[in-house]
Amino acid sequence: MTAPTNRTMLAFMAHPDDAEFLCGGTLIRLAEAGWQVHIATAAPGDCGTMTENRWDISSRRTREAAKAAAVIGATYHCLDERDGFVVYDKPTLQKVYDLFRRVAPGLVFAHAPQDYMMDHEQASLLGRAGSFLYAAPNVSAIPVREGSAIPYLYYCDPVEAIDIRGRLVEPTTLIDISAQMEKKTAMLACHASQRDWLLAHHGVDEYLDAMRRHAALRGKQAGVAAAEAFVQHRGHAYPKEDMLAAMLGGSRQ
Ligand SMILES: [Zn+2]
Repeated sequence: MTAPTNRTMLAFMAHPDDAEFLCGGTLIRLAEAGWQVHIATAAPGDCGTMTENRWDISSRRTREAAKAAAVIGATYHCLDERDGFVVYDKPTLQKVYDLFRRVAPGLVFAHAPQDYMMDHEQASLLGRAGSFLYAAPNVSAIPVREGSAIPYLYYCDPVEAIDIRGRLVEPTTLIDISAQMEKKTAMLACHASQRDWLLAHHGVDEYLDAMRRHAALRGKQAGVAAAEAFVQHRGHAYPKEDMLAAMLGGSRQ
């Protein structure tokens, strides 16, 4: 395949830290390859605390997300929905279309269609909708940017790489992130509010350890030290070549 001309990508997730956890290594590789990376979350992480009110924790967590994005020169966006209330409805869809319209991505990462939390599943649908329709002129009042088209769409792993029946998800694409683990860890560690909470609760650095276990699990499958897994959306009208694998290596089929 020829190299894609639109080298802007958007990781559209539910909460701050989801991108760093599930696809941070691949985002680093894309940034290293010259891609313009955008990370967006539907919600600001307002339920990710046992002690702070929703406004204080939202402020902290969106700043942590922006700091993590800055590690790779990426831009952070938040749609300002609420944790536990991310839904596929008309107002949220409009925010999604407007965001996609402004970013005009040629490549999109979304949550797995099936995941442990409904915010992730609804955000997956929202990301799929945004990718499919953002380039249609009438869907948003924001001008259509040059290069806008249905992008390559990949679903990240669900948390723990398992579906709701506990089965390991079979990826289409495994990306080697062994050389990016240090930076991925640094990005995730920007989310100090979450890391500290788990550290206090578990007594071990479960936040970073869980990420390392996940990367090692997928790495073993790929025959490398650490990897991230994706399932490519290959439905009607979407580009079907495995562009990620063609660019970074790691196709499974
Ligand atoms: Zn999440």
